[in-house]
Amino acid sequence: MRVALLSDIHGNLEALEAVCRDLKRQEVDEVICLGDIVGYGPNPGECLDLVRANQWPSLQGNHDEAACKNVSLDDYSPLARAGMEFARACLSSEQKKWLRSLPLTQESHGAHLVHSSLNEPEAWNYITDPLLAELCIMEQKLPVCFHGHTHVACVWERADDSLKFNDQVHTRKLRPDRIYLINVGSVGQPRDRNHHSCYLIWQPDERRITFRRVEYDVETTQKKIMDAGLPAALATRLALGK
Ligand code: ZN
Repeated sequence: MRVALLSDIHGNLEALEAVCRDLKRQEVDEVICLGDIVGYGPNPGECLDLVRANQWPSLQGNHDEAACKNVSLDDYSPLARAGMEFARACLSSEQKKWLRSLPLTQESHGAHLVHSSLNEPEAWNYITDPLLAELCIMEQKLPVCFHGHTHVACVWERADDSLKFNDQVHTRKLRPDRIYLINVGSVGQPRDRNHHSCYLIWQPDERRITFRRVEYDVETTQKKIMDAGLPAALATRLALGK
């Protein structure tokens, strides 16, 4: 059983299509999306339609929420806000209705799935330090939780007496006596200084995770960002992976 976990597609159709080609090569049995299908990128509607056409179960991310609900965008950065306003303008009411229907958390193959953190998922907390990781792990009833939101692929491993962080994992067999919080990285806007699309393959029967990095046509996406009138910084950051 090979389950692909995708997060933070962010309206980047070139990245999503490249990942789709990789999913075929990797012969995955199931694909699940951990949220933020829209926002930042120039093709929010096209990415949403592709996820729906493939019938991938999906969670709601904060950019999805901002695009489909009348929430305040005041606390977001100017770059995030520009992408959210663009998505609001692009999506049909039917597409927004579908986004509103997405859950914040789910359980699948013995693992928790969430966009941000199990600690108040609706508050969209970013897990950027050990304390924030502990707060999520405290809510875990299952040994593994997969999430996204920071766009940085990494693994937190809780043992009885330690919490280890590793952002250099390629593939790993998970130990049955540990608790894991695993960030699957970002398809459409990686921020770990590697511009290649990132997703994760989870083999629950073997308790194995494998991160995939996929090359895509960044220049086409950058051109679309400029043509759409989105901030140039959104194009620049894609090539830098940050
Ligand atoms: Zn995101």
